[in-house]
Amino acid sequence: MRFFIAMFSHETNTFSTLPSDRRQFEARDLRYGGELLEAYRGTGTCLGGMIDVAEARGVTLVPSLAAAAAPAGRVAAAFYAETTRRVLADLAAAGRLDGVLLDLHGAMVPEGLEDGEGELLRAVRATVGPAVPVAVTLDFHANVTEDMVRHATLLHGYKTYPHVDMDARGREATERLLDVAAGRIRPATAWRQSPLLPPIAGQLTARGPMRRLYDMADELARDPRVVSISVFAGFPLADIRDAGLSSYVVTDGDQALAEELADRLAAAAWAHRREFLHEALPVPAAVARALAADGRPVILADIADNTGGGAAGDTTEILRELLRAGARQTTVACLWDREAVRACVAAGVGATVTLKVGGKVDPSHGAPVEVTGQVRTLSDGRFVHKGPMFRGLEGRLGPTAVLDVNDLKIILISLRWQTLDPEMLRFVGIDPLAERIIVVKSSIHYRAAFEPLAHAIIEADAPGLSSSNLARFTFKRVRRPIYPLDEL
Ligand SMILES: [Zn+2]
Repeated sequence: MRFFIAMFSHETNTFSTLPSDRRQFEARDLRYGGELLEAYRGTGTCLGGMIDVAEARGVTLVPSLAAAAAPAGRVAAAFYAETTRRVLADLAAAGRLDGVLLDLHGAMVPEGLEDGEGELLRAVRATVGPAVPVAVTLDFHANVTEDMVRHATLLHGYKTYPHVDMDARGREATERLLDVAAGRIRPATAWRQSPLLPPIAGQLTARGPMRRLYDMADELARDPRVVSISVFAGFPLADIRDAGLSSYVVTDGDQALAEELADRLAAAAWAHRREFLHEALPVPAAVARALAADGRPVILADIADNTGGGAAGDTTEILRELLRAGARQTTVACLWDREAVRACVAAGVGATVTLKVGGKVDPSHGAPVEVTGQVRTLSDGRFVHKGPMFRGLEGRLGPTAVLDVNDLKIILISLRWQTLDPEMLRFVGIDPLAERIIVVKSSIHYRAAFEPLAHAIIEADAPGLSSSNLARFTFKRVRRPIYPLDEL
């Protein structure tokens, strides 16, 4: 068998003014041809899982490209067009194919378009024709559209948030694609879009409504006629018509059953809609509670400034409050501020510097904070993920400095990356277990690796573009009415 394989991934926060052009993809990941296989083999990613199964089953992979950038504003039209063209040209040149494997996100919004993945899949389908099966892995946050459902043979959404099953979904997509290509199953799919826009911090799968929905999906999937079930929580900060929760069911040739199960999942999601609402503590209360804790480390989650949800990663409200309160044995991980890093590099390790840090993208989310501290360490920002997410994959934070302000350590980074791995502290010489307070800029992903070592977790309601307080945003494009924006 010969399978085509490619990855094109971006989570677009349409409220963000940060660009997502070629440079941002080059900074994170942009690889062509066989390099894709070398970079992702054995990693805890969808591509890693796909490569694993394909190689174990003797499938020949025809690699095209892997393109991913940090979540931010709309993907530049030129880069989207260039990347799509390249995938289509590679497909056309690939010769006979038995299947197509695509690792996409599902919440990519290019300039001038609402549905990056739907358009790409339409073009892929037009190129390979109706007979070649196309299997797609999608993020749990995919805002699934009718075009994605129609033009793909199979969609496989992550079932976990934090996303710790990416490689499992890559494996599953490849196994099912083999089944379809060999004629062992004939997929019948049903999809239901709910009038629900769940805030990010209410989407975790350890408990709450998404746990409930996935327990139900697991139960329904015991029926041997069911091939797979995905419940997509959606990404609320992409203000497009199709943002929000949807349910997708695949059966082996039984359309009526697929429709029935999709209806049941949609009904359950609606019945429990209020459980998605989320409240976090105001910043002063959150910091006071962290300082009063009787164990360590306390994880103080800056859930609204999660670069993984398209936020800048440079807001300062929590930092300012920690400084005011005189917090020590504390680390802020991480603050995106290239200028501040450059100043630390120029001063050198051991030097004392006075700098304005953070607050440079949108001062309405917290102005820059002036600090005087000692440059503790400098590094090139390269580390290897060791937690349950992206295990084995190299992380790149760009030039990185640790600025020590009276034992409040600020990790300053040059490339935006969510604080989802304690390795991001360790590799710059900070022992997470020795800290009283660790601020992480992450909504949910930090839980996978930090929860096991945390004494307590406190979520703060600071300003930022990944806020779960949807009242902070003005939505213009999402279909209405939708809960919780409108009481239905
Ligand atoms: Zn996600």
